[in-house]
Amino acid sequence: MGEFDLIARYFQRPARRASLGIGDDCAIMRVPSDMELAISTDLLVEGRHFLNTVNPEHLGHKSLAVNLSDLAACGAMPWGFTLSLALPRVDERWLEGFSQGLFALADEHQIELVGGDTTQGPLTIGITIWGLVPPGQALVRHGAQPGDDIYVSGTLGDARLALEVFRGHASLDAEDWAAMRLRMDKPTPRIALGLALRGVASAAIDLSDGLVGDLGHVLKRSHVGATLNTDWIDTAQGLSAPVAALPWSQRLEWVLSGGDDYELLFTAHADHRAEVQEAAMSVGVPVTHIGRIERELGLRVMDRNGEPLSRRFQSFDHFA
Ligand code: ADP
Ligand code: MG
Repeated sequence: MGEFDLIARYFQRPARRASLGIGDDCAIMRVPSDMELAISTDLLVEGRHFLNTVNPEHLGHKSLAVNLSDLAACGAMPWGFTLSLALPRVDERWLEGFSQGLFALADEHQIELVGGDTTQGPLTIGITIWGLVPPGQALVRHGAQPGDDIYVSGTLGDARLALEVFRGHASLDAEDWAAMRLRMDKPTPRIALGLALRGVASAAIDLSDGLVGDLGHVLKRSHVGATLNTDWIDTAQGLSAPVAALPWSQRLEWVLSGGDDYELLFTAHADHRAEVQEAAMSVGVPVTHIGRIERELGLRVMDRNGEPLSRRFQSFDHFA
């Protein structure tokens, strides 16, 4: 199968929102005149971001999910995306599964694939995505203010637990393993929550590298510091049952620096506590209050008794 047959077979679908989609030199897409575009891109490389054993359908889902998660962090409504693929060979079983996983999530968010590029090479997946946001209303990393509350959505540490089971460092019964594995392979981008937090959150980021590291980006961009509590990890608020059952030190580390959570971390003025809970309720995603933004720079992680934790938590840095 040639390159063009492959594109036509697995990736070309009738254009809906685009006035010109796959098959031309450019895609053409109308943008509502009263909106700004939020644009993001992510590159996934085999061996670095996923293993060659991963189910192709899950990989199709995850490739788009990590990009949607960036739009969620900006409070943007998904609109369109492109797909750049390097494939070592034409593997129809793989392409079938990958495109199914990709389009199932695309349809869930009514987002359209309008173009891309395909070439032979080591398995690499690049997606560029864009969404719409009313002018000036995008959620940003640099908006956190001293006194703001810090929150996270959903449950943290699940994907890390699944990874550690893979590595043989933890074990789970079949049911928990299936649930944690889905959290790793098929993360749920928090699009609806991001939209609901426009005008409520002062800053936001999606958690891809780990809570401590990603919070660090918000602090740096906002020129503020923070105190992070861990009593919520102790009481298992905002944790799945399998993570809550882990010994304290593992739980602490995998929740604070696990990575691959694809939840939202955001800050909000203390006056907005009711609005935050309302936003969370309206989209059915729980949020947990985990700390406070402060003027003093740096991050202070407190143990369950409110004493500073001496150990440093490191997030995943691709060049470390
Ligand atoms: P060009 O010569 O301009 O690079 P190509 O011949 O590579 O264009 O691609 C032909 C058409 O197929 C273009 O419209 C391009 O956007 C689209 N396309 C190529 N690869 C993909 C892909 N993986 N997913 C979606 N569209 C693709
Ligand atoms: Mg090309």
